[in-house]
Amino acid sequence: MTTYPLPLAKDFEDKINNKNTHLITLRNRAGMQIALTDYGARLVSALVPDKFGNLIDVVLGFDSIKGYVNAQEQYHGATIGRFCNRIAAGKFCIDDQEFSLSLNNGPNSLHGGKEGFHTKVWDRQVSFKKLVDFYYVSADGEEGFPGELKTSVSYELSNENEIIIKFRATTNATTIINLTNHAYFNLNGEGNGDVLNHIVQINSDEFVPINDQQIPEGGVIPVEGTAFDFREPKSIAQDFEAKEEQLINGTGYDHCFVNKQPLSQAAAHAYSKDSGICLEVFTTEPGLQFYTGNFLADDQGKSGHKYLRYGGFCFEAQHYPDSPNQKDFPTVLLKPGEVFQSEIRYKFSIKKEA
Ligand code: BGC
Repeated sequence: MTTYPLPLAKDFEDKINNKNTHLITLRNRAGMQIALTDYGARLVSALVPDKFGNLIDVVLGFDSIKGYVNAQEQYHGATIGRFCNRIAAGKFCIDDQEFSLSLNNGPNSLHGGKEGFHTKVWDRQVSFKKLVDFYYVSADGEEGFPGELKTSVSYELSNENEIIIKFRATTNATTIINLTNHAYFNLNGEGNGDVLNHIVQINSDEFVPINDQQIPEGGVIPVEGTAFDFREPKSIAQDFEAKEEQLINGTGYDHCFVNKQPLSQAAAHAYSKDSGICLEVFTTEPGLQFYTGNFLADDQGKSGHKYLRYGGFCFEAQHYPDSPNQKDFPTVLLKPGEVFQSEIRYKFSIKKEA
């Protein structure tokens, strides 16, 4: 049996841009443990019991801050902001004023630009060994976004094996915002093969189609009759090789599904028959980006494990990609005096075989 230790705190004691970095660990009464770091306000590890009672680390990541800094994939477990997903040409308008963001994904801006929130060292406060609050103030103009944005992200580990992530932000000038968490999960344990055998259900009738630059071209389309129909549970592999344009444009699943479920109902779940571990995601957000790690390549993660293509999947709850430029999508504007709030819950359980 593979054992999955938590990373060592000393390997996260470092300095980035003159700010000290740390590892923070939380443990609940059910024996689940998570590790977080203030570098990118990110989830480093989640040790979850499998059907045999072993603790399995289901989150891809690294053993040290250096691992995160040097990684090819920069977003492991991170808080993504100010705007997760893509903005076409990095441009958008507010009240006829055009703003230009830093471009870091071909001609487009991805996940907040070159130095998005995943690169910042957040301030932190730990309460009652079960809750961690991270704070970051993003200066007016950072990466091209207007307004000074005060952001907080809290992580709580409940006794019901939920990781509860709450985002909050205020601004002093009208701006745009779209925050998410970018944890890659492998329910057989990080580094343990690919996730194509995972069974997934997404409770969504529609998704956002994208072009070959992964930019929406307007509107949403039904999942019915496509490889994107996950309304009944099926393995990721089942329709993966379908020659559908959308799968080709995403080089696999990398699409935002329309979420109409309230926070009390799961937007989606994934399950591994081998470990018995089930992950449900609950959210306030109108979209769920389901991403099958299509661009993972060659990083050497925890305990030297290789993270290859499809080695993890993400359930990124968020607003739709390129929302500022798509008039029919829910608004992502945040104005002075308003409070942005959103929530994502990742709940782990053991699924009994039918
Ligand atoms: C996006 C992918 C992107 C990845 C980078 C995901 O959220 O949907 O297209 O390559 O993030 O980590």
